[in-house]
Amino acid sequence: MPELPEVETIVRDIRPALVGRRISRVRLSHDDVLRGVTRRRLLRRLTGATIRRVSRRAKHVVLELGSARLIIQPGMTGSLQVHPRPLRPDEAKYAVLRARLDRGGELVYQDVRRLGTLLLLDDKQWERYSRALGPEPLEDEFSPERLAQALGGSRQAIKKVIMDQRHLAGVGNIYANEALFAAGIDPSKPANRLRPEDHRRLHREIRRILAAAIDSNGTTFRDYRTGMGEEGNFQLELLVYGREGQPCRNCGTRLTGTHLIDARISVFCHRCQS
Ligand SMILES: [Zn+2]
Repeated sequence: MPELPEVETIVRDIRPALVGRRISRVRLSHDDVLRGVTRRRLLRRLTGATIRRVSRRAKHVVLELGSARLIIQPGMTGSLQVHPRPLRPDEAKYAVLRARLDRGGELVYQDVRRLGTLLLLDDKQWERYSRALGPEPLEDEFSPERLAQALGGSRQAIKKVIMDQRHLAGVGNIYANEALFAAGIDPSKPANRLRPEDHRRLHREIRRILAAAIDSNGTTFRDYRTGMGEEGNFQLELLVYGREGQPCRNCGTRLTGTHLIDARISVFCHRCQS
């Protein structure tokens, strides 16, 4: 699933073509991506609405439409782009949502496996939804102390905790692996066993890596595309993710890959990370 840097890249790419545009016509090909909203209500609220603001929260793209917000969480095979003209049927084979814009463009969410989700929330619902998510790691108020607080004395593996969106927003498997390697912390270590210096290092590395990944337009391991339809470049800078069995870039030890921590692949150096 696209993580913070990928969704941020998409938002930055599509924002200029969307802000101030009015949605003139909406088509939804499948209802199974909807969460907590019916097709009828979604189409009614979107049609005729003007897009006031486009932003990101955690791994979600947020389109503000007056009093409602359309929240798109792109799935692993999802892509969100604004095309200068409406797509032809053969170009939009996997289109889930198509929103025709005034002045001729079209916002299209395509998703081959339809693992992404769409929500429509009013101000109050959004506030509640957003409040349940952890802090944004790139915001100024995110500090080592705030990270320590977010870990909340959990006895669960640190990797699991930083990927839990209720504790920290936007970090998924790729960047959790990378940040823990850069901070020298074993991904299976219980979160409550981290010391203040671990919090400082992990805080610094999470921010550094997420910012660098945004600069590289995100990581394209397989399906992810930017809001311009291009591949990201951060896969070239990954030090552990996707490198199990290969030598550690620090010490040459074979990197360990395991699914035992959280059923996702965890890759780490047992020598550099403790
Ligand atoms: Zn190493």
